[in-house]
Amino acid sequence: MSGDLSGPVFRGQRRGLMFVLSSPSGAGKTTLSKRLIAQNPDLVLSMSATTRAPRPGEVDGQDYMFVEEGKFLDMAGKGEFYEWAKVFDNYYGTPKAPVEEALSEGRDVVFDIDWQGARALAKSAPADVVRVFILPPSLKLLRDRLNKRAQDSEEIITGRMARAKEEIEHWHEYDYVVLNDDFSRALEKLSEILHAERLKRNRHPWLSGFVEALMNE
Ligand code: 5GP
Repeated sequence: MSGDLSGPVFRGQRRGLMFVLSSPSGAGKTTLSKRLIAQNPDLVLSMSATTRAPRPGEVDGQDYMFVEEGKFLDMAGKGEFYEWAKVFDNYYGTPKAPVEEALSEGRDVVFDIDWQGARALAKSAPADVVRVFILPPSLKLLRDRLNKRAQDSEEIITGRMARAKEEIEHWHEYDYVVLNDDFSRALEKLSEILHAERLKRNRHPWLSGFVEALMNE
């Protein structure tokens, strides 16, 4: 939006930001991101593209953009993803176009993604990305939650715990770290980060025009 440059009251639209949330699984990231989105009408969840088949109940264009492998690789070749990876024999990627559209319309996009995805996103769009790592208060709590989630074997749980620790090892690559020892407080902190980040100068491209008009008043 270019706005009206005729006087100092001119105020344009801010550029949205990419709100990247990572955590070991079981730390509450998905619930936190859902609540944050419910509280913020200008916040949307990023939708990944995948070559895997939809599971019962999953909707194309809602849970994932389900695409054929040929189409996926074509998109990857054309640079249409911020990042993509092969996970368990299927391809997953983050398409750029819908994110770019949201950002230019002043909406923020949440990414629920692991450290590798977060790193790739930050490399691909450094000015737009804000990275937040969510920490559990203890590994014991994480293990209890993973135990509750499914009645899996000890071996599977141990594997998940190893992956959780690997994820936590990357905490220092993030701009903010939120300790999820109290859900409401963690949600409040995420909200404060989001609101402060929205005020950053580089997210307000209209400012240079405003200042120019101001100085020529
Ligand atoms: P699922 O098939 O269970 O939905 O997801 C399998 C894995 O793919 C999860 O670990 C999930 O984090 C990962 N994944 C989902 N979307 C993306 C994406 O856009 N990029 C990458 N790199 N991984 C993704």
